[in-house]
Formats: sequence, C-alpha cells, structure tokens
Amino acid sequence: MAKAVLLIADGLGDRPIKRLGDKTPLEAAEKPNLDKLATEGECGLMDPIAPGVRAGSDTSHLAILGYDPYKYYTGRGPFEAAGIGMDVKKGDIAFRCNFTTVDDKMIIVDRRAGRISSGTDQLAEAVNGMEIDGVQVIFKESVAHRGALILRGAGLGANITDTDPHHEGAKVLKCEAVDPEDAASAKTAHVVNEFVERSYRLLKDHPVNRERIAQGLNPANVILPRGAGVGPSMDSFETEYGIKAACVAETGLINGVARYVGMDITEVEGATGGADSNVMNMAKAIVEKLQTVDFVLCNVKGADIGGHDGSPEVKIEVIKKLDEMVGYLTKSVPEGTFIVLTADHSTPCSVMDHSGDPVAITFWGEGVRTDRCTKFDERSVTAGGLGRIRGIDVMKIVTQLMNVAEKFGA
Ligand code: ZN
Ligand code: ZN
Repeated sequence: MAKAVLLIADGLGDRPIKRLGDKTPLEAAEKPNLDKLATEGECGLMDPIAPGVRAGSDTSHLAILGYDPYKYYTGRGPFEAAGIGMDVKKGDIAFRCNFTTVDDKMIIVDRRAGRISSGTDQLAEAVNGMEIDGVQVIFKESVAHRGALILRGAGLGANITDTDPHHEGAKVLKCEAVDPEDAASAKTAHVVNEFVERSYRLLKDHPVNRERIAQGLNPANVILPRGAGVGPSMDSFETEYGIKAACVAETGLINGVARYVGMDITEVEGATGGADSNVMNMAKAIVEKLQTVDFVLCNVKGADIGGHDGSPEVKIEVIKKLDEMVGYLTKSVPEGTFIVLTADHSTPCSVMDHSGDPVAITFWGEGVRTDRCTKFDERSVTAGGLGRIRGIDVMKIVTQLMNVAEKFGA
C-alpha cells in the first residue's frame, strides 16, 4: 500500500513584511528543498477551515484530518487532557487547568504558581478521585504549572464561563452557565466552583506547599479550570480511512488530537516545540514510523512561535530547518510515499496571532499532476493546479492518491 506523510508547519503562513522588502518569511527564506517539492508537486492555497476563519491549531488539525471541527469541537479541554494520556470518554467534560497562587480571599497572586516544576504529581494526587454531587473528578498534572481535569457524570454541559480572570490582583471568578436556562451546564458550573474551593482547602497546607513557602516560593494552592469541552465521540483514523497512523509532534495539544483519532504517539528526543527544536530527529522518527504505519502526521511548532513573537527572523530560521527536514524526507521515505506539506493556519508576524489568511499547500509523490508552480510560498502557489481548497479536502485528496479512497457511485 502507498504511504503518506502529512507535514504541518504550525503557523507558517504570513503576510508581506516591510522589512523583508514586502515579502513573507517563506518568500524571503532560502529553501531549495521546499521549492523542489513545490516544483515536483501539485500546489495551491488552503483555507484550514473556511475563507477568513481564524483557526486554532486544534480545530485546524481536526479539519485537515477530515473531522469537521464544528461537529467535534466544543472546547480545548478534551484534547489537552487526551494529550497528557488521560482517557477522555464520550460526554465527559474536560478542562485545561493552571496551578495558581491565591491569597486567603481568593485573589490571584501568581497565575502560574511560580512556574512550579516539581511536586505537582503529589498535589494532583490530593485532589484526584474525589466526588462532587455524584460527579467523578479526575485530575492529572501536566508540565510545569499545567494540568487537566475531567468531570464524569450524567447530565453535564460545557457551555460555561472560565474561573481564571487571566491577571494577577483579580479575584477567582465564579463559574457560571452561559445560558441560565441550560441546567446541564449550570450543574457543571456548580461542580467546578466546588472543585476550585476544595482544591484550595486540600492544597493550601499540603506538604509540597509548606516546603515551597519555607523556600520563599509561591505555593500552588488552588487549581483553576478553563477551556471546558465535551468529550466528542470520533471514529478512529483507521476506521475512517482504513489506514494505520502515527503522530510525531511537539505539543500536548496536537498529540491530544492525534490520540483522539487513535494515532500512535511518538516521543522525539530534542523536540522542544521551539525554534531550537531538533527537527532532524523528528524527520528520522517519521521515516522509522513509516516502517510500521501507512500514514504519519507531523507538526513542527517553531514557525508559530516566531509569528506570535512578531519575529520574521525566527520564522526564517525555522523555514531553513524545515527545508533540511524535507530534503531528508524526500530521499529517505519508502518508495511510493506521498508527502503533503502545509501549515495549520497563518500566524502573521504583524498580527502576532492566528489570522484567517489561507496557507500554501503541496502534494508530492509519484503520479501527482505537476503544475507551473516552482516555489513554495503564499503567492507562488496560486499558480498551482489545486487552486484553493479547504482543510477538510486534504485527506480526500491524500487517500485517493494512496488509492485507498472508496468510490462514490458505480
Ligand atoms: Zn497552529
Ligand atoms: Zn499559535
């Protein structure tokens, strides 16, 4: 069977930048291997979700993998929780959380509890497993001050407000149902408020925090949940397409999306999620994974960081690394493997956040119809044969190239 690699450069798309001579970072960067891929492939523009929609990384990845985010996505929580290995079940309400420092009046002293780096497993143990009004509470620590919470029980909704006021000096917010008539969400809100209060009671004098206070550090004395979402029920990638898939990514969020659709998750040494990431180790992991699976999703995070920081230089540095990666992949993947190169959204340096601009995409491999496009950047790909597609089209195109798509009709 043919194989495929879907390489997503996070936030790669950009807008013309004055100090780059009105070029985008992709236009300004030296990237012979990306251009070769575009020359030998079929190119176009892609709207991750729809024209003008500012996609998040999670919703965009869902769409590109062929799962309609409007159907499956109600919040970031479930994917964050899945990303740290929690088993999110259909109907669970899941949250991402911060360990935070508050005073005895519940005023935020430090949103990240001094970026606590140890002992959160013991703090998590103190709150995990409790029951509030018949609702099961499952909590797990993640990296640094982060964690994830699952509420499991009947009749819960996720249309609720956040407890985190997002700045120091403000009081912890009461969680409320967005729609007062929505009884299921009101029940969740009540459980969340109770959870926040109990977490404070259980953590404020916890030995880990006593020790922190003795050392002059901010105690992690409360847990604030946010980003509530309902655990969706999604068909696995294998059920959906009949192909076995693995994911090579650097962030918990992308691993969470991948885990949700049943992909095998791969840890890569030196994959930091920053511009300094060892992307060649990721490239090697992709080639290794292709020995046992048919499809590898890879997300390289660095370009998005450059965009959020407003730094075209960082983006260009990451593009050069991607170029090296693609050069290696085209030479090292098994014969008959397709490579799809694209971004999950634009993160223009001038915007310092995700924008609704479309991104460049190339399909490369044996039998792909080539076109007149010879460069991989936002403007050059408009000469490509794909025209303008949407994220939700990508897997249809890949699976028909791989010859595993089912025929529609006789
Ligand atoms: Zn992204
Ligand atoms: Zn981003």
